[in-house]
Amino acid sequence: MTNISMRSVSKFFDGGDIIANYELDLEVEDGEFLVFLGPSGCGKTTALRMIAGLETPSDGEIYFDDDRVDDMPPADRNVAMVFQNYALYPHMSVRENIEYPLKVRGVPPEERDERVAEIAELLHIEDQLDSDPASISGGQRQRTSLARAIIREPSVFLLDEPLSNLDAKLRLEMRSELKRLQNELDITTVYVTHNQEEAMSMGDRIAVMNEGTIRQVAEPEELYRRPKTAWVAQFIGSPPMNLLEGTNRDGTIRVDDENSVPAARETTSADVSVGFRPEDAAVTTTEPDTDWRLRGTVKTVEPLGEYVLVNVDVGDTTVNAKVDRTDVESGQQVFLSVDPDDVYLYDGDGELVA
Ligand code: ATP
Repeated sequence: MTNISMRSVSKFFDGGDIIANYELDLEVEDGEFLVFLGPSGCGKTTALRMIAGLETPSDGEIYFDDDRVDDMPPADRNVAMVFQNYALYPHMSVRENIEYPLKVRGVPPEERDERVAEIAELLHIEDQLDSDPASISGGQRQRTSLARAIIREPSVFLLDEPLSNLDAKLRLEMRSELKRLQNELDITTVYVTHNQEEAMSMGDRIAVMNEGTIRQVAEPEELYRRPKTAWVAQFIGSPPMNLLEGTNRDGTIRVDDENSVPAARETTSADVSVGFRPEDAAVTTTEPDTDWRLRGTVKTVEPLGEYVLVNVDVGDTTVNAKVDRTDVESGQQVFLSVDPDDVYLYDGDGELVA
């Protein structure tokens, strides 16, 4: 069991021209499943590679428990890493692939057989052990590469977009498999993805990254319910939170010529953004009996089966409402109303006003 600590870790490339990571501070607890989530190029892989020892930090320190590891070669860190493009040895059977790390270490054949059987059972690939990698499915290949990583009994498990090459159905299946596996093995795990659903469903906590820095670290529910910054609010959710810029004067926020709403929270900031989740908005054609309502014009109505997505132009901004059903049509004047308890307020610096 290992605790990972990143202390003010930065990584620059090209003599400092590229800032891949900037002052990352993060504690990953023993046995925790932590996810790095963020858009492409935000520095997730670089952060993971520094934990693995494949990159050296330009600045800052990384610890595994009390041991400083940032100058330690990868082989001495006892980490296992699984990538998107898992490479199995094509000329070896599934069994030989899985036992390879033990063979290299000189583990005797009987013990290898025992460990392979155990791991294969855990990953449900016991029937494929004598097949060669070319003849098994993508999911079975990914399980084999996971088995090969796990058999070494690493103290840290690092996964970089391991499911992106799988089709949608298999991805769902592997998602819960991986989570189960991690629970059973209790290995400290860091998982990189740009897929929000994957992050929310698997992570004990999620570190949301943008432009090389960590914007918020929180449990999935907390991240969704209390995004600390406007950037995180706009990133989490599908579709994400609606945000409207406005000017605050004495607790009333003017969004545009037609729309002013109560601030719902107290702030001294004059420039603010008001936010609400698409599922928290009601769409009506008659004026609702509440102060927290916006006038707008329906842009499009998308019946998506599970819900209807109504896009409404409010001033220069298009906002989304998720409703069960609706009779509204594009071009129609409507009202969007939101319970003030479900309204978020961000100040001029984009920080949540609690
Ligand atoms: P993706 O999801 O697309 O893989 P990411 O969030 O994992 O992206 P990184 O791969 O960590 O992002 O890259 C962060 C930034 O650092 C990018 O601008 C990338 O181009 C740059 N970068 C990464 N590795 C190197 C390198 N070896 N040399 C120069 N620049 C690099």
